[in-house]
Amino acid sequence: MSIRENLECVKKRIADAAASIGKRAEEITLVMATKTVDAERIREAVKNGGHIIAENKIQEALKKYELLKEEDAAWHFIGHLQTNKVKDVLKFADMIHSVDRMGLVEKLDQRLMNEGRSMDVLIQVNTSYEESKYGVTPEEAISLIKEASRYDTLKIKGLMTIGLFTNDEVKIRKCFKLLKRIHDAVIQESIEGVEMKYLSMGMSGDYPIAIEEGANMVRVGTAIFGARDTPDAYYWPSEKVDKG
Ligand SMILES: *Cc1c(COP(=O)(O)O)cnc(C)c1O
Repeated sequence: MSIRENLECVKKRIADAAASIGKRAEEITLVMATKTVDAERIREAVKNGGHIIAENKIQEALKKYELLKEEDAAWHFIGHLQTNKVKDVLKFADMIHSVDRMGLVEKLDQRLMNEGRSMDVLIQVNTSYEESKYGVTPEEAISLIKEASRYDTLKIKGLMTIGLFTNDEVKIRKCFKLLKRIHDAVIQESIEGVEMKYLSMGMSGDYPIAIEEGANMVRVGTAIFGARDTPDAYYWPSEKVDKG
């Protein structure tokens, strides 16, 4: 299957899942997870209707950004962000999905202040409670959002999570339901400057389920570009090395 056909298929499944809960396809934003995918294949995807490129590693992103910055696409950062990479992420990102601690909020704020601009961010929540996953715990999410909301340079636009890796649909749904509950609770709090516009959840294996549970932003890689050679452990380290 070509990238174009894969994209069509993903968009069809997004539309079907949206329709099943009475939403329109346009209400769901497709983010292409492009880690390990070379610039030419990403370009092909952009030409065929994928308009958000999302990378996990800063160096990889910067290289591809140089080659693709003229393309009609926005750039998201979806990987773990070390504080010493804040300067570099600001060179390409239009949105960061992985803000999960105050140390990072402070560093982003400092740098954004220096540059005199703001950044759209999502708060990453560890809904699976797996040790290996980054993200604020569900219990601490609201207090982190309240604290982070005091920094005007960060525009909090929603929440992100990576669901549990399992074939057990009940367990996956539990993660997504939890993120939706936190999303609703944040809205209830009506925190100044905080918008719950995006619920970023769902990947190739589970994006239709995520949409059923309320996702309006899905991050899809394999279903568009095919299987990756690099093990995902490289992107999701089994041990947390840096909490910055
Ligand atoms: C790789 C990745 C995805 C997409 O994964 P696929 O299973 O290839 O669709 C989504 N979110 C994050 C954070 C990723 O690193």
